[in-house]
Formats: sequence, structure tokens, C-alpha cells
Amino acid sequence: MIIQRVVLNSRPGKNGVPVAENFRLEQSTIADTIQAGQVLVRTLYLSVDPYMRCRMNEDTGSDYLLPWKLSEVADGGGIGVVEESKYNKLVKGDFVTSFTWPWQTVAILDGNSLQKLVPQLVNGHLSYFLGAAGITGLTALLGIKEKGHIAAGTNQTMVVSGAAGACGSLAGQIGHLEGCPRVVGIAGTDEKCSILVKEMGFDAAINYKKENVAQQLRELCPGGVDIYFDNVGGDISNAVISQMNQNSHIILSGQISQYNKDVPYPPPLPPDIENIRQERNITRDRFLVLNYMDKYEASVLQLCQWIQEGKLKVRETVVEGLANIGAAFQAMMNGGNIGKQIVSLSK
Ligand code: NAP
Repeated sequence: MIIQRVVLNSRPGKNGVPVAENFRLEQSTIADTIQAGQVLVRTLYLSVDPYMRCRMNEDTGSDYLLPWKLSEVADGGGIGVVEESKYNKLVKGDFVTSFTWPWQTVAILDGNSLQKLVPQLVNGHLSYFLGAAGITGLTALLGIKEKGHIAAGTNQTMVVSGAAGACGSLAGQIGHLEGCPRVVGIAGTDEKCSILVKEMGFDAAINYKKENVAQQLRELCPGGVDIYFDNVGGDISNAVISQMNQNSHIILSGQISQYNKDVPYPPPLPPDIENIRQERNITRDRFLVLNYMDKYEASVLQLCQWIQEGKLKVRETVVEGLANIGAAFQAMMNGGNIGKQIVSLSK
């Protein structure tokens, strides 16, 4: 059977900025028949995520991420529909997902590598299982629960960087839902800041490309910062950490501003900021959502319930067509998305 697929065409280099041309669309073939235990799936949605930048390097820098190989099909979070099944737990028409879905139109996969999805849990909005009801939502919820130390009923302030992205937009809302009374977001455009405040209930938002972050934080967080959900690292994080309170907590979600640089993860803080962190006993533990798989099922149900109740507002930036996945990845790495960046093959 003839299919379309996307392979890694070239590597950007450890210090390079990834571009759409690092990926290549090509025609390929798969077997015409499936074996016992296998399913034939048609791809509906693919996820592009910042961690994939590490997979573009020959050495990802972490033991849980495998590098993509040149001229081989890329993979990541994906959702599809079963077209044919020789696996006893799945039938034609089932919707399924995997973290290692190949970037191709149709694929033969092992049935036991797939999780079956229940579309009703997300009001039929299947792609949410790649975002708000998937790894992104889990990162926001479990990051806050495991590392945030929200004490409901106290007067805490939470700051979120990368706030209009997939994780950040959920993290701010979950901060409120978990009992933090004041949430301030940091994002890169006025439109993003407006959506954060008007649609997602953030108490305030700072446009870091136009405003002085340190000065704005002093005005918007007069009692200092108690919880910092850090998606970006770098100068923005240094400004936030400088205004954090004694015994406060950083949720080290990610450091996207450092991903095109050859630095270790997590990148060390500059000495003056590290001194502040130590003097004020600010925690900055490594957080990896993959370490909490035993909490996924209950957490996904919680996220789905909030979505159904309208308590969690979800934004997606959807790009149509497998041919555009490289461009979608490039755009996301440059902050071109609002909410979760999705590539749709469903039309
Ligand atoms: P995302 O949707 O792309 O959001 C990230 C946002 O960060 C972008 O919207 C962008 O918007 C902003 N940004 C990009 N480059 C920036 C820079 N140089 N300086 C400041 N802001 C910048 O990505 P995501 O899926 O939400 O992921 C967010 C972070 O979570 C990433 O660091 C990712 O690696 C991490 N993550 C961690 C885990 C875990 O287990 N720890 C799991 C999933 C994701 P603006 O610049 O326009 O504001």
C-alpha cells in the first residue's frame, strides 16, 4: 500500500534554529496485509512539541529520548482510527493513541502499543487527547500538584511563563482551580496576553517582548511570587526568580528559550540568581511528567471533567496536512501557536 510519510531530512545542529526543511515529505509503502496482533490505522492528528527539538540532535542529551535518524520516519504523540484489526482488544472504527505514532498517513502498528480513546470524555474533540487531556494537560496538572505546593486559602501568587502555550495556558487555569487566588502570565504578544486574561481567567499578563518584565512583576505581584511554573528559562526566569518569596517553589516544566543551545538540562542559573535561590530556599526540582504514569488515569479523568464542565478553556492552533508538519514545528518553536499546536490529517 502506498502511503505518505515525513522523515528527518537534516539536523539543525545543537546550536541551530530548526526549520521546516529539516523535514521531508516522501512517498513510501507498507505491507498490504497485517499480521496477528497488528492493526492498520489511519492517522487523524499529530502533535508537535518542544521536546522534539532534542530528538533532532544526534545525542538528545537524555536517556528517555531517542534521537530521530536521518531519512527515517519521525514520530511523536498521535491519534488515529483503526481501519482493520487482528488484535483482540481493538475493532474497526476505534480511536487510538500512542506517544510514538509515526508521521505517516497510514501505518501498521502493534495493537498492544495503543491506548483506546473515549471521544465522549472530551465532548468529541479527539485532538484534546494530545493536549489538554493528554501529556500537556498532565504536565500542567501533575507539575502543579507534585511541585507547586499550592496552599488553598492562603494568599499565594503564581507566575507562568510561556503562558499562552500548550502547558502554560492550562497551568494558569489549573493554578486557580487548585486554589491559588492570583495568577500572572508572561507571553510574547498582546493578543496572547488578552486571551490569557479575558478567556482563561489569568489575573494579569505581561508581554515580555514589549514590557519590562521585572518592573511589571513588581507592580502585578506586590506580595512577591510564591509559585513559578517555568516553561522558558533564561532572562524571563531570572527576572521572576529575583522576585520569589522565602520557601517558594519553581515548577521546572521546561526551558524552551535554551533548546537551540548546547547546554545541559536543566541549565544552571547564573550565579547571582542561584544565590538568591539558595538564600530564599526556593525549590527547583527536576520535573518529568513521564515519572508519574501511575497518576495518569485519574489525572486525565480530572482534566476531562474540567473540560466538560467548561472550567478549563482549551485553545489549539491547527495546521492542516502532513506536508506542513515541519512548518508547524518551526512555527511552534518560534511562539507562533496559541495553546496546543496540532497537525490535522482528518480532512
Ligand atoms: P508551546 O505550546 O510551544 O509553548 C511554549 C511557549 O513558550 C510558546 O508559545 C512561546 O510563546 C514561548 N516561547 C518560545 N520561545 C521562547 C523564548 N525564547 N522565550 C520566552 N518564551 C518563549 O510548548 P508546550 O508544549 O506548552 O511546552 C512548554 C514547556 O513545557 C517546554 O519547555 C516543554 O519542553 C515543557 N514540557 C515539559 C514536560 C515535562 O515533563 N517536564 C512535558 C511537556 C512539556 P511566546 O514566546 O509568544 O510567549
